[in-house]
Amino acid sequence: MTFVITTGYGIYHVQFGIVLIGYLALASAIFCALTMWQLVRSNPLPVNYYGVVLCQFFALLLTCYFYGIRGLVLVTPFVSGVFFLFPFRNALWLSCFFVGFALIASYPSIELKLYIRLAVAQIITLFFTIAFSHVVYRQQALLEKEAYYDYLTEVLNRRGFFKWLTSELQSIESTNSDLALFYLDLDKFKAINDTYGHPIGDKLLVAFANRILSALRHEDLIRSNLQVCNFARIAGDEFALAISQLHSKEAAKTIATRIMQAIDQPFRFEDVVIHVSMSVGICFASQSKFDLNRLFKNADSAMYFSKSSGRNQANFYLESDQPSP
Ligand code: GH3
Ligand code: MG
Repeated sequence: MTFVITTGYGIYHVQFGIVLIGYLALASAIFCALTMWQLVRSNPLPVNYYGVVLCQFFALLLTCYFYGIRGLVLVTPFVSGVFFLFPFRNALWLSCFFVGFALIASYPSIELKLYIRLAVAQIITLFFTIAFSHVVYRQQALLEKEAYYDYLTEVLNRRGFFKWLTSELQSIESTNSDLALFYLDLDKFKAINDTYGHPIGDKLLVAFANRILSALRHEDLIRSNLQVCNFARIAGDEFALAISQLHSKEAAKTIATRIMQAIDQPFRFEDVVIHVSMSVGICFASQSKFDLNRLFKNADSAMYFSKSSGRNQANFYLESDQPSP
């Protein structure tokens, strides 16, 4: 839609209006088309959003300067577009900045009394756009949390982890790097539930997740918006950890040993002390041709090998389908 309107606006101005506005609108349409192309190829580059917005911003300023009121009319849809494209904080500052400049640019071409009324109307509209967008952003954040995070441990859930890992595998493959997936499953967790009850079982799952996170080095954890992306609760007592830029079995073994030692310490909940262990399966992304489902299947089968070999151990997946200690 933006592409069609901007192209029309650009062609009209190149032919009948102010040529500079026309060229800027057409440049914005080109950026818009590039962005659409990248979205279709699921490889969005945010720089093109900035291209669209920057070209449209300068076209808007010129429209305000030359056409006065007709330019100001375009400010509100433009600001709404900014809230649609960018995170709330960025959109907030960008929109205040743009409205301010649009008002300055249109000042010379509008009669003062009318200008003051229009400026007040613009500021009120901006205020309501920000307020409305804030509510929408908060709702979105809440929905996203419910969709992508585990309600109990507050780490990513299976869906959130798969989403992150899909794009991580793409970038790992394109940079000829590697990633190790650690599949973790608590040993005999059902017996803990049966002995101490589900509430203690829940507390143990939360403490387990926190202990894994605190056992890892700062540089092993990947965060986005302060949330860890490379550790998740996949289901029940199953967790997954992905460590990027890991190329050797020795390095992966060191990490497995570190987290297993951390879990080896007893968990205390008021007067209850629980000793647990876990079984771990490790698979490298390169062994699974960077295919997400295959990577999980392989790490899972290595984990089951650990279970069947007596639990409380970590094993690598071997391409011969025979995991080895
Ligand atoms: P294994 O050593 O073979 O892994 O034995 P296990 O007893 O741990 O068996 P399994 O991993 O198959 O069982 C997972 C159990 O986790 C089954 C279910 O009762 C329990 N569970 C799943 N989700 C939750 C939860 O949210 N809270 C609690 N407390 N328990 C859960
Ligand atoms: Mg288990």
